[in-house]
Amino acid sequence: MNTVQVKDKQFALYISEEKLLNRVKEVAEQLNADLAGKNPLFLVVLNGSFVFAADLLRDITIPCEITFVRVASYEGTSSTGEIKQLLGLTQDIKGRTVVIVEDIIDTGFTMKELLHMLEEKNPAEIHITSLLVKPGNLKVDLNIPYRCFDIENDFIVGYGLDYDHEGRNLRHIYQVVE
Ligand code: 5GP
Ligand code: MG
Repeated sequence: MNTVQVKDKQFALYISEEKLLNRVKEVAEQLNADLAGKNPLFLVVLNGSFVFAADLLRDITIPCEITFVRVASYEGTSSTGEIKQLLGLTQDIKGRTVVIVEDIIDTGFTMKELLHMLEEKNPAEIHITSLLVKPGNLKVDLNIPYRCFDIENDFIVGYGLDYDHEGRNLRHIYQVVE
């Protein structure tokens, strides 16, 4: 299927499942090599990363732990506007090697806030793995060595990522057709 309809928009095939799986395996192998002996704790950021995480983590062969978190935003009562909140982290991460598993980094603001919230809990180190990065939109300084694909700024859907709650179950990644 080279194009799909999700709600009111048309999307064209952008990255096939085969390409995704091959690259995800390469990144998993890099993590296996770099983090061996550190018993990393993978923090999967829901919802979008659930498919990426399932594939990546089955290619992780070193001892590790996996947990799931959510970054929620709510309107603050002060004038500061949107505030981000970390939900679901029950483990103590003090002294741990933490790997954040993200679906996509766009402006990078979400990741920056997540890093600040995690740093307060004194982990030994924090790494980021992201399926996708939009370098053209990145507004903050982030070190993302374990990124699978750099993509254009256009909106994408599939392989966990949604358009208005739909499309997460598509096997491939699709780009919006303007
Ligand atoms: P950031 O804070 O980096 O700008 O935003 C990251 C979040 O924006 C992602 O977790 C995701 O929810 C959303 N996002 C950014 N670009 C896209 C895209 O092309 N497709 C989808 N489905 N979500 C996106
Ligand atoms: Mg995300």
